[in-house]
Amino acid sequence: MVAQTHRMMPPMEYVRLLDEKAGLDGVIAIHSTARGPAAGGCRLWSYPDSEEAMADAFRLAEGMSYKNAMARLPFGGGKAVLRRPAGEFDRRALFEAFGRAVEKLDGRYVTAEDVGTGVSDMECVARQTAHVAGRTALPGLAGGDPSPWTALGVFEAMKEAVAFRFGSSLSGVTVSVLGVGNVGAGLARLLASDGARLVIADIDPLRCARLAEETGAQIVPIDAVADVDAQVFAPCALGGALDDATVAALRAGVVCGAANNQLSVPHMAQALMARGISYAPDYVVNAGGIINVAAEYLSESADQVRARVLEIGPRTREILEAAADGGLPPPVVADRMAEGLMMRSQPELV
Ligand code: NAD
Repeated sequence: MVAQTHRMMPPMEYVRLLDEKAGLDGVIAIHSTARGPAAGGCRLWSYPDSEEAMADAFRLAEGMSYKNAMARLPFGGGKAVLRRPAGEFDRRALFEAFGRAVEKLDGRYVTAEDVGTGVSDMECVARQTAHVAGRTALPGLAGGDPSPWTALGVFEAMKEAVAFRFGSSLSGVTVSVLGVGNVGAGLARLLASDGARLVIADIDPLRCARLAEETGAQIVPIDAVADVDAQVFAPCALGGALDDATVAALRAGVVCGAANNQLSVPHMAQALMARGISYAPDYVVNAGGIINVAAEYLSESADQVRARVLEIGPRTREILEAAADGGLPPPVVADRMAEGLMMRSQPELV
């Protein structure tokens, strides 16, 4: 599902990756290097053909340019997409071959894990190139699981969005969370400790039950989560949660969640605005993970990650206010802001 909104940045360069012996078939797409090396994860997925893999890489690389610029990171946007070989394959050989391809780009692209790849794959990549993050965290330095940072960023954004929309804190506010995996559960814990009431839904009943026991959350069926009596809806499962039916059913005044590509189609941003719902753009609020990955690559500390993640709250507020003042959907305002940041040759570090 594509969630672009009036995006204006020019197309990108790409490198086709083919190494039959290693099972490597994919693409590295570089959308922008204006702010620094193109950074974005490596996805391993079963694509029916190379064209689909390439289209996904282009779309994802563009998304990373916007997310990295918005987070004020000294990185542009890129993405690697690898076609998963059919049947059994030698993972180590595949990711070492990918690492050699990354190395050939001489630092123009920095990789990390994404859907279908993990820490052990990045350790294979690291045997061939230094331009990789998402590895095992070293003591005192940034790195490791990015999910807690993503959850914290969404939480900070939600606090500001609720203050903007309702003029209140999160205490006593009801938040419905769709998807209580790594990020959704982390967010729910932060919300519970801040006095929010929780309604949760997930395809995994065990996850729901555990979290409900821990936080006192009410469990509802997935198809009921949008129209429960809640002030905030937090999509934290897969993309495309905000479609015609969901937006029409929503009773919340704020949407703020971790999932990527929440708008099923771009005009859902207008539909949310027409219903008076304040939508905190996904890539603004869920940048905590890439902030952590970037800091790992730059050998920065967890304190530096925390300081940057805490910036997500005021940034969200700024976007919601500018959108209200200009009568525009927040994703349009966010895209324009990110495009302005991409055009600056000297990125400011937070
Ligand atoms: P996860 O796999 O740990 O959790 C996803 C949860 O959603 C699981 O509990 C799963 O059972 C549930 N789920 C899947 N399909 C569902 C459906 N149709 N209805 C209801 N629940 C469903 O993933 P995560 O790391 O928590 O990431 C959640 C979302 O946030 C994803 O969209 C991801 O792309 C995005 N995101 C994550 C990070 C991060 O740091 N992990 C960073 C940025 C964005």
